[in-house]
Amino acid sequence: MNAAAGRRIGVMGGTFDPIHHGHLVAASEVASFFDLDEVVFVPTGDPWQKSDRHVSPAEHRYLMTVIATASNPRFRVSRVDVDRAGPTYTVDTLRDLRAQLPGAELFFITGADALTNILTWRDTGEMFALARFVGCTRPGYVMDTSALADLPSDRVTVLEIPALAISSTDCRERTQRGEPVWYLVPDGVVQYIGKHRLYTPDPVPSPVLD
Ligand code: ATP
Ligand code: MG
Repeated sequence: MNAAAGRRIGVMGGTFDPIHHGHLVAASEVASFFDLDEVVFVPTGDPWQKSDRHVSPAEHRYLMTVIATASNPRFRVSRVDVDRAGPTYTVDTLRDLRAQLPGAELFFITGADALTNILTWRDTGEMFALARFVGCTRPGYVMDTSALADLPSDRVTVLEIPALAISSTDCRERTQRGEPVWYLVPDGVVQYIGKHRLYTPDPVPSPVLD
């Protein structure tokens, strides 16, 4: 019997550029609703769906995710996507975690907006075999439930979470305009953004991270 067998584990994939309280509340709500033992945050490597915009180096996004989750004993961060070469596909994330956690039940947590696109993702049949999917309704998002009709109902749940009108895009734009992101992201992440001058035209050059 291995340590992972029978454990219920949430998987929260994201670009996390930066991670914000919307992500953390969603993970916490899904963990509570499904009685999860742990939520693993998985920052993307090279995000194929966002290749049209500049994305901060994976190491910065990974470290902000570590800072944001460090105080919660049921949250941890995985490097599987950061360390895999090439663009990130959810099916690869789930395959890698399944190999690391044999016998665990995986719950992939995603925004409802992404859930309705899910059938355009790679290898969806395998994805639904590897994990259950939980779509969190986001503030301001009117869900097109017709798209859900094509998804396997026993593997997909839509969960309403308390409205948090926070997005990474807004956090980046606020920083760029010199507006605060205090209380939208965890304190340590505010300080990390400031230290490395992320989302400003002149980020601090780092031989390791840039
Ligand atoms: P961006 O604005 O750059 O697209 P984002 O805020 O959507 O960033 P991502 O890293 O793209 O953040 O999101 C990771 C996951 O978290 C996605 O499944 C997304 O739908 C979900 N998510 C993002 N913001 C919220 C929020 N405020 N409440 C619930 N889920 C969210
Ligand atoms: Mg997004």
